[in-house]
Amino acid sequence: MVGISLFGSKPSFKKGDMVYAWTTNAGLAEKAECGGAVTGLLKFALEQKMVDAVLAVKKGQDIYDAVPFLITDPAKMSEAAGSLHCGTLLLSKLVKKYLDGAKNKKIGISVKGCDVMGLYEIAKRNEINLNNVLMIGVNCGGSVSPNIARVMIREKYGVDPDVVHKEEIDKGQFIIEYKDGHKGISMDELEEQGYGRRSNCRRCKYKIPRAADLACGNWGVIGDKAGKATFVEVCSEKGAELLAKAVASGAIATQAPDPKGIEIRGKTENAMFKLGDKWRKKDFTSLGKNLWETIQKETSRCIKCYSCIENCPVCFTAAEALTKDSLMVKAGDVPPGQMFHLRRFAHISDSCVNCGQCEELCPMDIPMALFSHAVRVEGDAAFAPKLGPSAYKN
Ligand code: FAD
Ligand code: SF4
Ligand code: SF4
Repeated sequence: MVGISLFGSKPSFKKGDMVYAWTTNAGLAEKAECGGAVTGLLKFALEQKMVDAVLAVKKGQDIYDAVPFLITDPAKMSEAAGSLHCGTLLLSKLVKKYLDGAKNKKIGISVKGCDVMGLYEIAKRNEINLNNVLMIGVNCGGSVSPNIARVMIREKYGVDPDVVHKEEIDKGQFIIEYKDGHKGISMDELEEQGYGRRSNCRRCKYKIPRAADLACGNWGVIGDKAGKATFVEVCSEKGAELLAKAVASGAIATQAPDPKGIEIRGKTENAMFKLGDKWRKKDFTSLGKNLWETIQKETSRCIKCYSCIENCPVCFTAAEALTKDSLMVKAGDVPPGQMFHLRRFAHISDSCVNCGQCEELCPMDIPMALFSHAVRVEGDAAFAPKLGPSAYKN
């Protein structure tokens, strides 16, 4: 059933329910992307001590600088409201690296699909305790690399990127707001010309993060609530409990979604799957018939900085092994021998989540994510029927 069930005066929700939701806090509502349900729910969880801290994202120097933000004081939650589409960072590994894998603290976290998949992959390796993690998912059509965004705004929009104070992606357009006005260009047009979303995001098919506790977005909010409410899908009992308590306390208000809105959301998700398939075909075909030859050519400029290993949510154990002399990799060789890369591919090939961190952060612009993603997708096609169910499907 879709919507809220009311038993007595207590709101109750269950997995699969969908609602339009919004914060009742005027300050949060003003800063939020849509209805502010994400920030309102995380603030409520912190106030009620359902979590000890919240890990979210906030604006750093400017709109191209999305930084992770750990919040323990609910009064600071509003700093994290709003979406940063040039925020290409991945939060999952930070939970392991700096928050002790949530082993001793309860962490609330706002997560895109790749953050969710990263958390699950790290948890499979016993480095994160998911029981202590409350995931508020945000739907994700894709993010734009900050460097590309700056070039794109200068060259395609004819605007100085430093005067842009807000960006948004709406109805297939990348829209900027700046001192003298606003301008939108269709994402399809931008991407055909090499701008737009990161290449891994174009191939991504995990748009509504249903492996989180709640999946929140703007798709499907129509009518007088458009832009003023967040579309929330309940994905777990934990998510249902949080939403019910927040509604009961008055922190969050809800109404049943417009059935037409639900239909539109479903159609949009399907259109994004098709677009993802189109980009997969295009990108994977571009690799040519001999993938290993292409990898060898591209990685010949590797400076062995370890960034692709350090930032990969799947590849942390190998990092230690790869820094030492081993039977396969000799320490100190730059560029490293091909076994350096081959070993990494072997290590991650069945679990790459296509988060794009390796490629985004490679100082030599080596398309590592494309290689890993192509290998994983091919592996899935060959072996997936024999694998058990996955927490997420991407
Ligand atoms: P708010 O209360 O404003 O909270 C937003 C939350 O998102 C905050 O916790 C903030 O810390 C976090 N956040 C901001 N930027 C990032 C980032 N780069 N990475 C991780 N977390 C971040 N919704 C759709 O329905 N369709 C889409 O195609 C779509 N694409 C998106 C693409 C990106 C890159 C992002 C970040 C969000 C996207 N969303 C999309 C979600 C949408 O923009 C809103 O976040 C969502 O509707 C919740 O609205 P809200 O007002 O409740 O959020
Ligand atoms: Fe969003 Fe997918 Fe790109 Fe992650 S990989 S930022 S979930 S489109
Ligand atoms: Fe080599 Fe790039 Fe990886 Fe650095 S990030 S080790 S340069 S492939």
